[in-house]
Parts: sequence; C-alpha cells; structure tokens
Amino acid sequence: MTRSNAVYKNSVYREPGPPLDEENPFEAMVKRFDVAAQILELEEGFYEYLVAPSRIHITAIPVVMDTGKIKMFEGYRVIHSDIRGPSKGGIRYSPDVNLEEIKALAAWMTWKCAVVDVPFGGAKGGVRCNPKEMSPGELERLTRRYTANLIDVFGPDRDIPAPDMNTNEQIMAWILDTYSMNARRTENAVVTGKPIALGGSQGRREATGRGVMTVTMAAMARLGMRAAESSVAVQGFGNVGSVTANLLNQNGCSIVAVSDVTGGYYNKGGLDITALLEYVAGSGGTLEGYPDAESITNDELLTLNVDILVPAAKEDQITKKNAGNIKAKIIAEGANGPTTPKADEILSDNGCLVIPDILANAGGVTVSYFEWVQDRQGYFWTEDRVNRRLDRMMHAAFEVVFDASEKHGVSLRIGAYVVGIDKVAAALRLRGIYA
Ligand code: NAD
Repeated sequence: MTRSNAVYKNSVYREPGPPLDEENPFEAMVKRFDVAAQILELEEGFYEYLVAPSRIHITAIPVVMDTGKIKMFEGYRVIHSDIRGPSKGGIRYSPDVNLEEIKALAAWMTWKCAVVDVPFGGAKGGVRCNPKEMSPGELERLTRRYTANLIDVFGPDRDIPAPDMNTNEQIMAWILDTYSMNARRTENAVVTGKPIALGGSQGRREATGRGVMTVTMAAMARLGMRAAESSVAVQGFGNVGSVTANLLNQNGCSIVAVSDVTGGYYNKGGLDITALLEYVAGSGGTLEGYPDAESITNDELLTLNVDILVPAAKEDQITKKNAGNIKAKIIAEGANGPTTPKADEILSDNGCLVIPDILANAGGVTVSYFEWVQDRQGYFWTEDRVNRRLDRMMHAAFEVVFDASEKHGVSLRIGAYVVGIDKVAAALRLRGIYA
C-alpha cells in the first residue's frame, strides 16, 4: 500500500511551526495520531477535523476564600469531539493544570471511548488550584462556580464530567447539585463517578484497576506467561494502582514493588497487598514508613527486573532517559500518557509489549457509561453484573486492538489509535459536514 503524505502537508499542526516537543502531551498525542492517520489514509480535511479540539472553554472563577478575600482561579473545559455522542471526561484540580495537558487528555478520551465502543466523544476539564491548601468550603465554592460558569456546556446529552486527579465523589455531588438547581430538576446523569446514594454505579471505584488487570491477563495469555510465575511492579498506589495490584495479586501474580509520592517499597519475595491497603487506609493515604519492604526510588522501581510494569501515577514517567533500562515484558498503562513517543520506540525495539493507556485504563469510562445508562433508566445493576459486562468489553477491546496491531505490523498503541480514529472517522463520514 502506498501512503501519500499530501494530506498532512496542510495540517494546522505541521506547517508552519517548530518541531514537535514530545513532552508536550498534546503533541505526543498528535505524533501517534499522525502514524495512525497515515495507516488509515484519512481523506483530506479529516485529519485537521479529527485532531483538533472542537471547543475550548476558559473561565475565570472567583471564590470567596475563608479569609473573606476574593481569589481568582482559571478553569478549563475542552470538548475534543462529540461526533459519536455526548462528550465525556474527568475534571482535575492541580497547580500544574494547563491547556495543552487538558487538550491531550480530551483527545485521549475521544479515542478511548471509541476503542471500547461506548457512545461518547471526548472531553476533559481542569482548574488550576492547589486543593491541598484549600478548605472543604473553599473547594465547594470553587466547584459550584466552575459548574455555574459552564452550565450551558454540561448536560447528560451534551458533556458529562467525572472525577480525575484530586477530584472525587463529593465534588461530583456538588456539580450534580449545582447543575440540578439551575435545571430545576434533579439530573443525576450529568456526572459519573458520584456517590452510590446519588445514582453512582456499583464497581465504578474499582473499574479502572479492574480493566487494567483484565487486559494485562489477556496480554499474558497471548505471550504464554503464567500468573504464578510473573512478578509485577506498580508505580502509584492510588485508586488505579492499588486496585490493579490487588486484583493481579488475586489472580496469582506476585507484586514485588509499589510506590507513591513518598517513594518506592520493594520486597523480592512479594508484598502483602492486604497489609499495604490497610497501612495506607490507616496512615492518611500514603505508604510512608511501611515496614515490610526495602526502600527504593521511583526510578529504581521502573527499571526493576520484573515481568510486568504498571505505571499508574501520572504523565511522562517513561522517557528516552530510562526506557532502555526497563526490563519488563509487559507495560500496562494505568495512568494517562506515562510513556513518551521516543520511549515507545526504545521499548518496541527491546520487545516490550506496551498496553496503551487508551485501552488499558478504559475500564473507568466503561463503567461511567454503565452509570449514565443506569441513571437514565432509573434501574441499577448489581456489582456482579457491572463487573461481568466490564470484563467482556475490555476483553473484546483488547482482541480488536491486538488484531489491528498485527494486521498493520504496528505497536498496540498505534493499533489502538487506528481502531479509535477509524470509528470516529466512520461516524463523521455518515454525519457529513453541517453547513
Ligand atoms: P490517585 O490520586 O488516586 O493516585 C495517584 C497515585 O500516584 C498516588 O498514590 C500518588 O501518591 C502517586 N504518585 C504521584 N506522583 C508520583 C510519582 N512521581 N511517583 C510515584 N507515585 C506518584 O489517582 P488515580 O485516580 O489512581 O489516577 C492515576 C492515573 O490514572 C492518572 O494518570 C489518571 O489520569 C489515570 N486514570 C485514572 C482513572 C480513574 O478512574 N481513577 C481512569 C483513567 C485514568
């Protein structure tokens, strides 16, 4: 098959402009998109249409702080695509939030929803703030005003937020309430990842880690690896990392190292995950001081001699600097964007199978979709039903992506982009361009 570059010459993301900065997450996304788009031979104009965010909202949020003074915060909501359905994506609160990161995360949501075949587009939101320095009252006022400013953007048929870094069930409950007060009716399908008492789903909290476990086991089966002989290191022991570690352990793997912001904890003979979970629950959420392990750095954790590595903390952790020293046979990306494009090339040359974020951590949005369906039906499922349906969808997505990567002779990451972009492009072709 001959591949023409003609389409890409006119791309707004190519000419003019400096070379791609691969640690800029949006450009890292564009770099993978380029390769998949060439394989798909997207028609002219589709490239520009599909890669660019559809709408970007930037909003100034005034908050009366506990001191009585007004403080301004900057908030974002990026709708990358609503071609396949209402847009879906989390909201993060962090001092590092910036537009490039939110644009990348929104685009990943578009491809992720298409890969697992849930009928959503992609979005992401964020507020630049330091939630650790804010009181619950300040966080509530910030959340309510951010929601009020974006009231015309959100909605169960428009754009549906969920929790992400430093946001949680309580923050979703405040969004639900603010939206509902303005809509003059209770609208629980406007957010997912909310408390069960307000229409949340059984199994949502564990869904992302459960999905990571499912695709990791599927990859192990493809490579002929046995759980009982496989060792695992997990970077990040928060929601995704701790659930993944626990479930892989229940399936027979030995978890030899875990880490969080306080550092890494290693035990060659295998860590006791139940004891770790209890320790974290009793210590205000960190692993600091955990006794039954050797202390290692986060960098050492990534390059340990293990079979499976699960980065489940944050972006840009596996780079050209450390990729050459990674020994794992499988990397399952619990986090969004943990591997840079340069690192991908090195890992691929070394024969490491990377299960990409847009497949590996798609369990969260899959159960968010179940939550939205349950809210709209007013009929709630058992945890067992949620988990069975999740496992089925994650298995199916893994097989489709694996087959696409074999068919085109590319990595699982590019295979996942090919599957995701192809579905969005097919929907766009059918809808046509409104004029
Ligand atoms: P979380 O806040 O519950 O946990 C993050 C963990 O990473 C914490 O243990 C934290 O201490 C640790 N950490 C932070 N910086 C670190 C570093 N430099 N080295 C080692 N550990 C570090 O967050 P989460 O919900 O588990 O999300 C983790 C990642 O997974 C993020 O990239 C998020 O976008 C992604 N993700 C989460 C979900 C979800 O449903 N929660 C869904 C899809 C993707």
